[in-house]
Amino acid sequence: MTLWLALSLAASAWLLGLWLLERLRLQRLLRWAARDAAEPAPQLAGPLAELAYRFEKALRQREAQGRRERERLQQLLQALEAYPNGLMLLDGDDHIQWLNQVAADQLGLERERDLQQNVRNLVRHPAFVDLLQHDQGSATLGQGGAQQLAVTLRRFGDERPPGRSSLIVLQDITERLRMERMRRDFVANVSHEIRSPLTVLSGFLETLQTLELAPAERQRSLRLMRQQTERMQLLVTDLLTLATLEGAPKPPADDWLPLAALLQRCFADAQAADQGRHQLSIDRLDGATQISGEEAEWISAFGNLISNALRYTPEGGTVHIAWKRLADGRGEFAVLDTGPGIAAEHIPRLTERFYRVDSSRSRETGGTGLGLSIVKHILQRHGAELIISSQPGQGSQFRIRLPAHRVR
Ligand code: ADP
Repeated sequence: MTLWLALSLAASAWLLGLWLLERLRLQRLLRWAARDAAEPAPQLAGPLAELAYRFEKALRQREAQGRRERERLQQLLQALEAYPNGLMLLDGDDHIQWLNQVAADQLGLERERDLQQNVRNLVRHPAFVDLLQHDQGSATLGQGGAQQLAVTLRRFGDERPPGRSSLIVLQDITERLRMERMRRDFVANVSHEIRSPLTVLSGFLETLQTLELAPAERQRSLRLMRQQTERMQLLVTDLLTLATLEGAPKPPADDWLPLAALLQRCFADAQAADQGRHQLSIDRLDGATQISGEEAEWISAFGNLISNALRYTPEGGTVHIAWKRLADGRGEFAVLDTGPGIAAEHIPRLTERFYRVDSSRSRETGGTGLGLSIVKHILQRHGAELIISSQPGQGSQFRIRLPAHRVR
């Protein structure tokens, strides 16, 4: 009996001990779990060890998944940040939830300060406010010469309060509108240039058809008709040159051309065309200098400046062609004339297509108004620059500066 009692007491004590030990382990496990299992799981045995292992594994998996999702979100935000257009997210009440730096700059907002603000209080442009009334649509913001923004709005998400969110895309279309305007002006200019000779031609044709002209009169009409067709031909040739230059590949950097031969050729062409009307001269050129690029384009650029000088300088005037190497290695081609000169306000505009200081003088001498814009194009392609110095009554100097890497 006593033995039995002793045994059961010992068994109870042992069980109690076991229970206490298990409780202690459970407490360690709970403390570990309460600290979000930041450290490795406590050393346990039996089912608790299994439980800790499974708990830790699930937790680590969840953490890894969370990390991956955060990285993906970060990547997505970085991509939206790198997007070249402005992006903005609004909640159902039009409060700013997120915007990239481009959008902030375009709308004059400050990212940190203006987050969670109602966009209606910050962007008050009527077209923008009007856009916010709709579920989707586009508008253009900005007027005159300032920045022009195309804004597109799309609402998305469900209807429950506070309503659908909005995605706003902002695109700077200033340059596109400028190009469209240039294209429209260009077409209008070309049409105008072609219409005048065509009007003259059709007038003469009608006269020839309806009237019996004396031979001398008839000859005069035919001569004038021919002048007009030549004018149209010159215009078409210059337009084609411009179009070719725009689509042409970059001029070669290592096609070396003998400068003296090239300039002598331009000089001889000019002499032939001028037929002694001006005193035309050229610097003595050393035979060793070479320039690189597209030969036909250099001839066209140099030739254009020489022909302008001859066309605008009255008969008997002087036109001189010069070449020198600058101290920094660049080359300078110059055409100096004793012509009428050009007032300062015209100089920056001379290379615009169809810009003329004196339209009648230009047309009389066979000008198309495109010569200097062709020159400018050629120079840009070769990395060269055009410098014009002139004063009314003092003649003009047109200089082409070639970059050092194109002269040797
Ligand atoms: P255009 O065919 O009319 O000559 P350009 O583009 O070659 O067209 O020249 C633009 C304008 O620049 C000319 O119409 C003329 O008014 C002016 N210009 C160009 N070269 C000279 C010059 N050497 N002297 C005076 N005016 C010039």
